[in-house]
Amino acid sequence: MATVYEDPFIKIATMIGGDEYHKVARSLLKSIDATDEEIASSTGLRINLVRKILYDLFGKSLISGVRVKDEKKGWFVYRWRSRREEVEGFIENQKKKIVDRLERRLSYEEGSEFYHCGNEDCRRVTFEDALEAMFKCPSCSQILEAQDNGPVKGALSSKIEAIKGDMQQTF
Ligand SMILES: [Zn+2]
Repeated sequence: MATVYEDPFIKIATMIGGDEYHKVARSLLKSIDATDEEIASSTGLRINLVRKILYDLFGKSLISGVRVKDEKKGWFVYRWRSRREEVEGFIENQKKKIVDRLERRLSYEEGSEFYHCGNEDCRRVTFEDALEAMFKCPSCSQILEAQDNGPVKGALSSKIEAIKGDMQQTF
């Protein structure tokens, strides 16, 4: 689907919505200020799908639309163009959101003790829940034992570091 070297705008569109977004993004770069109808005919996608994708990209500030009068038809249409300068900001934003989520998860891991019965099919429980269940697993009734969540914390930390390191570089 995507080639090794490709415009960041096309890359990010593909990441958001896959093959169909890929087609629309390519079409937007190929012909600047195209209408939804023009994009539909150049991509072979249904007009409703093209509109949905355009509104989504517009909502994410990755494209802009200008309302102009179609001289032939006599009504107003939107002409769309990519906002390639927004791509980097968008990516940074996404990464920040992921880091935020991972950091919240990490502080949850750091602030809680977990107990587990050792049975792979059962979920771990917090100390409070283990206490309430008299240290018997709510699912299989086996004895709950303290679980070391060090590996989980380690994995979260290194993931956070990796994304933060990546954020210094350009896409
Ligand atoms: Zn269990």
